[in-house]
Amino acid sequence: MARLQSSIRKNDTVIVTTGKDAGKRGRVLQVHPDKNRVLVEGANVISRHTRPNPGKNVKGGIMKREAPLHASNVQLVCPECGARTRIGHKLVGDGRKVRVCRKCEGVVDK
Ligand SMILES: [Zn+2]
Repeated sequence: MARLQSSIRKNDTVIVTTGKDAGKRGRVLQVHPDKNRVLVEGANVISRHTRPNPGKNVKGGIMKREAPLHASNVQLVCPECGARTRIGHKLVGDGRKVRVCRKCEGVVDK
């Protein structure tokens, strides 16, 4: 069952599952649903060489910044049970659809 759209959202805590940062946890800073990519704090950090630009008060050197990861390379860390988990969906009493942890059935969305 392929899900085209990831259920990862901004400010979720996720764990990286593949690549050089596998096992690293971080907060989701940005989500790009159109590209199915997420930007995770401290994960997939790349070095960027910048030229000095005194007019803009930019010092030259190597800047470190995060690059987006594909959403399939991260997994949600459940805020309830702390496990990495897949996300399910559930309708709650007032008709809202919330995300739930497949492991503990805890509601991820507050
Ligand atoms: Zn859970």
